[in-house]
Amino acid sequence: MEKNDSQFDVIVVGGGNAALCAAITARDEGARVLLLERAPEEERGGNSSYTEGLMRFVYNGSDDIKALSPDLSEEEMKSDFGVYSEEKFFDDMARITQNRTDPDLCELLVRGSNPTMHWLKDRGIRWLPQFGRQSFKVDGKHTFWGGATLAAVGGGPGLVATLYKAAEKAGVQVLYRAWAKALIHSDRGVHGVVTNVNGVTRELAADSVILACGGFEANAAWRARHLGPGWDLAKVRGSKYNTGDGLEMALRIGAQPTGHWSGCHSVGWERYASDFGDPSTSDDYERDNYPFSIMINADGKRFVDEGADIRNYTYAKYGRIILQQPMQFAWQLFDSSVTHFLRPEYRSRHVTKVMANSIEELVDKLDDVNKPELLKTIREFNASVKRDVPFSPNVKDGRGTVGLELPKSNWAIPLENPPFEAYAVTCGITFTFGGVKITTDGQVVDTSHQPIPGLYAAGEMVGGLFYFNYPGATGLMSGAVFGRIAGRSAAFAAKLAKAA
Ligand SMILES: Cc1cc2nc3c(=O)[nH]c(=O)nc-3n(C[C@H](O)[C@H](O)[C@H](O)COP(=O)(O)OP(=O)(O)OC[C@H]3O[C@@H](n4cnc5c(N)ncnc54)[C@H](O)[C@@H]3O)c2cc1C
Repeated sequence: MEKNDSQFDVIVVGGGNAALCAAITARDEGARVLLLERAPEEERGGNSSYTEGLMRFVYNGSDDIKALSPDLSEEEMKSDFGVYSEEKFFDDMARITQNRTDPDLCELLVRGSNPTMHWLKDRGIRWLPQFGRQSFKVDGKHTFWGGATLAAVGGGPGLVATLYKAAEKAGVQVLYRAWAKALIHSDRGVHGVVTNVNGVTRELAADSVILACGGFEANAAWRARHLGPGWDLAKVRGSKYNTGDGLEMALRIGAQPTGHWSGCHSVGWERYASDFGDPSTSDDYERDNYPFSIMINADGKRFVDEGADIRNYTYAKYGRIILQQPMQFAWQLFDSSVTHFLRPEYRSRHVTKVMANSIEELVDKLDDVNKPELLKTIREFNASVKRDVPFSPNVKDGRGTVGLELPKSNWAIPLENPPFEAYAVTCGITFTFGGVKITTDGQVVDTSHQPIPGLYAAGEMVGGLFYFNYPGATGLMSGAVFGRIAGRSAAFAAKLAKAA
């Protein structure tokens, strides 16, 4: 950027998936676009770069998968991809959010999901089925189970790198270490962003501004304030730069907060993980095989139905429940008959793990636990398992418990075949659910319920989609769908402003 070059059609604040999709779309519509990424270049991409690049989208069978992933071999195409219909996506969003998801936004998300996969493919993203983490082999055949079947080649880093390449090729200007601080605003709306670029504060003018700079998950004070006591103690799974700046800037000029401000996506995460995400270790901190475990707390008691549903529909709400336990932690205990299902991260160096050849030895080795109570819990659990129901990892198998005050509904495996394995977990926060209200054109709405001229939002900053819980792999899709909508609307508004 030239020194005096500070007038743009569209400024996009943020440098993750939502921001990039918005910037590319606005540029494709002919706008002159500047993207402001707070992080240095080597840390660009926000939470998006910490993902597996996994996407939830509508498809009606293997032909739709082949259309997006044309290089699949004949052998791979024999997999059972199932169908993920619009109806199923709507049902999942309604059920998981306890019917609170905004129907208009949800409709845009669901109906926009398949076309957005093709749009991303046309921008250079290559898709492959996530064989290792979203399917189990049934009768020798990969069978997908969770509505999240394709992931970007190279995962989150691959997705982000390809989108930056596409943005730069399209002519989007990118500034790194560009920390947006405030919106430039008058009675006529938003006209730009006050930004600290490499330590120097500047005013950058634009006809439209798109905020796509994440939630407040990396801000301990805001977490305690909005999510509640104890949330300051959660580990941050991803970017340390998502501190709620965009939300703060928007609320300061009257934007309407909406959605589940005391809610967030949080998971079971290595107990001694670093405080913020670290690209070199974060992949090793996930502990998502709990449906095949029992989880116990410091009192030696189970505290949640580990097998209530398949992983993709419970993992995002169980972090909160772990945080609520004494000392904010839990142990996941596995019988040796299921340890071959454990994902590779359980085998990494970054685990707090105990192995034992008897239950007594296991209990003796576990730190910070009431041992007599734990022995009792394991004995009662083992005695309660419906052993006549076959175990089946791909479906809710109904192999539950009988007679326990807190049942386990599926995949109940007694702890009786050594060696036993135990893993210590705490709460890792992924992203926050509260955001600003937008119209179906992606425009931010104020507290008088009027759209704010010149202001748009996308990605984690949008409120109203997720409540209580979240269907796995919807965050990237939401960022891409609403990023494209915001990009198109912002470019159009900039054209109108020029014509006026
Ligand atoms: C470990 C992990 C794994 C995940 N896996 C998946 C998955 O496989 N599939 C899926 O769908 N979702 C996944 N998610 C959720 C997903 O990451 C988010 O939903 C999605 O990436 C959000 O995109 P975004 O563009 O809104 O935010 P981000 O990607 O977080 O981007 C926000 C950007 O804003 C920048 N920023 C912040 N403040 C400022 C400021 N003041 N000025 C300028 N820039 C600023 C940040 O540096 C960052 O670049 C995962 C999340 C984590 C943490």
